[in-house]
Amino acid sequence: MKDTAKHQGLRNLLAKQLEEKGIKDKNVLEAIKKIPRHLFLNSSFEDFAYQDKAFPIGAGQTISQPYTVAFQSQLLQVKKDDKILEIGTGSGYQTAVLVAMGAKVFSVERQKELFKTTSLLLPKMGIKPKHLSFGDGYKGLPQYAPFDSVIVTAGAPVIPQALMAQLKIGGRLVIPVGEQEQIMTMLIRKNETQFEKHEFGEFKFVPLLENKN
Ligand code: SAH
Repeated sequence: MKDTAKHQGLRNLLAKQLEEKGIKDKNVLEAIKKIPRHLFLNSSFEDFAYQDKAFPIGAGQTISQPYTVAFQSQLLQVKKDDKILEIGTGSGYQTAVLVAMGAKVFSVERQKELFKTTSLLLPKMGIKPKHLSFGDGYKGLPQYAPFDSVIVTAGAPVIPQALMAQLKIGGRLVIPVGEQEQIMTMLIRKNETQFEKHEFGEFKFVPLLENKN
């Protein structure tokens, strides 16, 4: 698990590229500079880790593209100690970025293999989410609700009701919605029953699957 000056240089360049693509939140850009993305990938991808691309992480899943991670993180407007629910832990890279931004992250993954690998990897790197959970993200984590925000990192055919219900008033739910391609969607909870909806264009994610295992 080596992180060298060369890796740091590549991360600084990546952050600069993301800024040029429209990411303004300094807190997000600092986290991108800090988290060693190459350590979240199989070593055969090490040379490509700081390209703005998605890569396979096993179990048919992918680590999200850095721009997508930065875009979703920016939409959350993370404040220190925010309680954030993440659906789709995957490699743990998005989790690590949110932890670096000062959030208390609760994350759920439905693929056992990824859950196990990432549960071991993050503490080894000194990254401490509040809670990593193996299960179906459609249900959220009612035992830890309510959350300041919820981020879904897989494409959802519809917005799961359970996730809306676990949001604080004023909280944000950021979720890519759609089957083949997804529209990045943000709901802001106005009160018990009303949510304000914002849409931010097309992205491409692996699907959010109902629990079939
Ligand atoms: N944030 C991750 C993205 C991984 S891809 C990263 O940066 O690496 C999306 C992840 O969502 C996959 O790991 C997939 O297994 C997971 N996923 C899909 N459906 C899910 C569900 N219903 N509950 C929890 N996780 C799910």
